[in-house]
Amino acid sequence: MQFTAAVLRGPDTPFTIEDVTLDDEPGPGEVLVRIAGGGLCRTDLAVRRSGGRSPLPAVLGHEGSGTVVSSGGGTDLAAGDHVVLSFDSCGSCPHCRGAAPAYCESFAALNLFGGRESAPRLTDAAGAALAPRWFGQSSFAAYALVEARNAVRVDRSLPLELLGPLGCGFLTGAGAVLHTFAAGPGDTLVVLGAGAVGLAAVMAAGAAGVTTVAVDRHPQRLSLAERFGALPLPADAADGGGLPERIRRLTDGGARYALDTTASPALINDTLRALRPTGTLGLVARLHAPLALEPGTLDRGRLLRHICEGDAVPALLIPRLLRLWQAGRFPFDQLIRTYPLADINRAERDCDEGRVVKPVLIPAAPRG
Ligand SMILES: [Zn+2]
Ligand SMILES: [Zn+2]
Repeated sequence: MQFTAAVLRGPDTPFTIEDVTLDDEPGPGEVLVRIAGGGLCRTDLAVRRSGGRSPLPAVLGHEGSGTVVSSGGGTDLAAGDHVVLSFDSCGSCPHCRGAAPAYCESFAALNLFGGRESAPRLTDAAGAALAPRWFGQSSFAAYALVEARNAVRVDRSLPLELLGPLGCGFLTGAGAVLHTFAAGPGDTLVVLGAGAVGLAAVMAAGAAGVTTVAVDRHPQRLSLAERFGALPLPADAADGGGLPERIRRLTDGGARYALDTTASPALINDTLRALRPTGTLGLVARLHAPLALEPGTLDRGRLLRHICEGDAVPALLIPRLLRLWQAGRFPFDQLIRTYPLADINRAERDCDEGRVVKPVLIPAAPRG
């Protein structure tokens, strides 16, 4: 079959909208999904700086949602089901068996650097093969052929085209709060960076009764965080060395948890100092330089750890987040602006310039 996709051909080129071909039908355990929408995540754009480790040309996109068109069997998904697509995992390593698929031993290979050997590849109009499936989906396209394992069935009454970011960005922020920290009433949380992941953490913390401080440089992002229940704290309070003290004041003596989405060594050091004893700071953003910890920042049992995909089992957390949304307690749709897939370059610019928190790209209705 032939359909439209956004193709990234080189690290510095814009996305191009092209006709691509998929020659295979879904095999056992796979489904073909007609994409309703796909979120643009920082990890898609980071391919530009991967130094060739993520192969190009590629169809990116790893926050897709859509309707199952056909199934290769071996799954309880059927044509017409609405699904949210999440990251790929092998299903058989100790971490997958231990309900920690984000730490799958093949995570990087399956999602970022090459995909499944056996997975069908898209070809371009000249017949050249594109890079293997990205995050098990490549959903910046009208269709995606995915492992049923990564497709989470959702209720048909939900706004399908907006649900894709629940598969990665929103899952990451909310999962860190609800799973990794298991934060609850009486707990205190600092969120560094009020982007898509940070604001999802703020919302999940609000739903869980956690007192949250949001730190960001941009006033409009801070006011968004405030709208979703966080106490806003401008990041430049750090300049005078005042950030730890301000955080301690807002969190009754020190925060129990912190989530960093900025990879800023200064903010991380300041926030570690503002944690109470045995407090935890979770890192979700990729560091671009060595992280130097100042003396004393880990004293008193403080813990610094990485968190991948919110430690989530997507098939459990996504339905939970949707129930919170239905109850008005996780209003993630307010972070989304939709764009036609053909406007993906405008969406990237808006994202880079901070004009949108979470762009969602909508493919044109299939031809014929
Ligand atoms: Zn695995
Ligand atoms: Zn992502």
